[in-house]
Amino acid sequence: MLARRLLALLLVATSACVASAGCAVDADEEDDDDDVQMGDGVATEDELVAERQLNGSELPNKTISLTFDDGPGRRTAELADYLAEHGVKGAFFINGSKVAGRQAAIDKIVGRGHLLANHTHNHKQLTSLSGASVVKEIADTDAIIAQAQPQGPWVVRAPFGAWNASVARAINASPMKKYVGSVFWDQGGALTSTAAADWDCWGKGVSVQRCGELYLNEIRTKRRGVVLMHDIHDKTVDMVKQILPTLIAEGYKFAPLEEVPSVKRAIAGSSTPANDDQCQSATLGRPVNENVCVQSRSTRRWSRCVDGEWIASTGPSDPKCVQRFPL
Ligand SMILES: [Zn+2]
Repeated sequence: MLARRLLALLLVATSACVASAGCAVDADEEDDDDDVQMGDGVATEDELVAERQLNGSELPNKTISLTFDDGPGRRTAELADYLAEHGVKGAFFINGSKVAGRQAAIDKIVGRGHLLANHTHNHKQLTSLSGASVVKEIADTDAIIAQAQPQGPWVVRAPFGAWNASVARAINASPMKKYVGSVFWDQGGALTSTAAADWDCWGKGVSVQRCGELYLNEIRTKRRGVVLMHDIHDKTVDMVKQILPTLIAEGYKFAPLEEVPSVKRAIAGSSTPANDDQCQSATLGRPVNENVCVQSRSTRRWSRCVDGEWIASTGPSDPKCVQRFPL
């Protein structure tokens, strides 16, 4: 048994992120995405870890949370100002390797009341790295975040949404266990005829106007959630300026990421002591004991806590459940 291995960092189900998580790697060249597509999801594991994914599905109707990855870019400070002037607090998941020469953007993010969050140092796929390399990827960017935002909260999003139990264990066995995550997204993950992903729009020559319309369509359809965009792209900043006034006029509210229910519970739970046999529950927002069964708020599937790990359970008909928490 591993002590507190999943206390702070939660596992994100990967079924929804196959070939959907695009991220730019070039800080200076607009529209020069390295649109790596990944799919590390394993169906059985996806079901088991579903209890632990952080997303915005519990936000109130017409409430979204804006998140920006892969920066800081050359227009990040401008974006931070623009959002603040419209009363919106966003979350900026930065890559530490992009910060050199852009400390002013970091200061602007924090100074304007936005959340500075960890998207690793070099935007590598964590599931392909050694445990020591995983920790270094988080820790190197944490050094920047801790300087600018010393009180936290500490929130991480894995590049490409690539996350598994090994990654979580490596981080939780280090001082980086203070982080909660990985934070996934509800909108902005895939470019289709009715939905958008900004990096993919720019890579495929979709106009700012059209991409913005697709974001609006997806938001109006789903009506709530964590929205994924990438502030490393100039066109994304233009697009935000296009769609934000429309959303405000239509009555949408903008929740800071740390106020998104699943994230808020994870932050609150990350400081709660747990013993080796306990499992952290994203649904309950606290650790539970051995053989406690919980129904996932996001998937409605049941899981049972065994030796500090969630395993699939039939819930009501599982005789090994000593306590059950249905929705
Ligand atoms: Zn990214």
